[in-house]
Amino acid sequence: MLIVENAHVTFPVAQTKKWPWSPPGLVHAVNGISFELEAGKTLGIVGESGCGKSTLIRAVAGLAPLVSGNVTLDGEPVAYRDRASMQRLRATMQMIFQDPIASLNPRMTIREIVVEPLTFFKPEMGAEERQNTALAMLDRVGIPSTQANRFPHEFSGGQCQRIGIARALVAGPKVLLCDEPVSALDVSIQAQVVNLLKELQREMGLAIVFVAHDLGVVRHISDEVLVMYMGAPMERAPAADLVSDPKHPYAQALLSAVPVPDPRVRITPQMLEGDLPSPLNLPSGCLFASRCPKAMAKCKTARPPMIRHGQHQAACFLLEDAPMEADSMA
Ligand code: SF4
Repeated sequence: MLIVENAHVTFPVAQTKKWPWSPPGLVHAVNGISFELEAGKTLGIVGESGCGKSTLIRAVAGLAPLVSGNVTLDGEPVAYRDRASMQRLRATMQMIFQDPIASLNPRMTIREIVVEPLTFFKPEMGAEERQNTALAMLDRVGIPSTQANRFPHEFSGGQCQRIGIARALVAGPKVLLCDEPVSALDVSIQAQVVNLLKELQREMGLAIVFVAHDLGVVRHISDEVLVMYMGAPMERAPAADLVSDPKHPYAQALLSAVPVPDPRVRITPQMLEGDLPSPLNLPSGCLFASRCPKAMAKCKTARPPMIRHGQHQAACFLLEDAPMEADSMA
């Protein structure tokens, strides 16, 4: 359904120039991300704030320009399109956002908000059919249609995120891009929204890209997880494998910081020391070398490729010599 190949995104930034004719700096926000996603499956993307997760899904949606690489949606190229031809594809790929309240127009009723995509993407629908479809979608996400004439400020954050989901799904997209959709919500509401997304995925056969910085939430919804650092892939594996046995030192550190709701289990979070490299001037070696507790001499000079190890792929030289367990070889 969705194929991303070696995506790169950079942004020019103003910086103190050494000479008036020096070129502007370039922030390397996304550096060589690839993945494929089938219908009905979820890819979770995790990493620290600022690691390029949101920029990546904005690039997948055509909202941030790729400088190289490709994005293909259901066989059609997405990147490098003009605005008019992109609009047709937007019906197939929709987004939900981190701040549920700010993502809804405060001057529109929730009925108008959910009808709007149908007006735009399905002009062949009659007015009454549009209204009925929007009200049915609101009911499906748990907002009674009797409240359809209210404004967003009359709802809680969790309810606003449900309205955002209704708006995204009402026109029947095939791919849903979720940009930290639960990080602004209470823990109990997070679970309700994640379960709602899973139910809707089963009913509609949606492919979901779910971005979060909380590995605990991501493992609950994802079939596969991609760990990003400085815009680059560090590890990719089925969710259960990544959580039970992460191979990359960065994935291990992230996982050690996930709280375990059992007072008998004591986990000491692995503190990462050292500085992040500058995204304006990426090192030629491993991007994680300045903070990696297992760094070797060659990590400073050569960039590790993604190395397959059983169900895992990780950008780490340690995997070159790692023994393969019997079950993962099978
Ligand atoms: Fe650490 Fe080296 Fe592996 Fe990078 S390649 S994660 S620095 S051990």
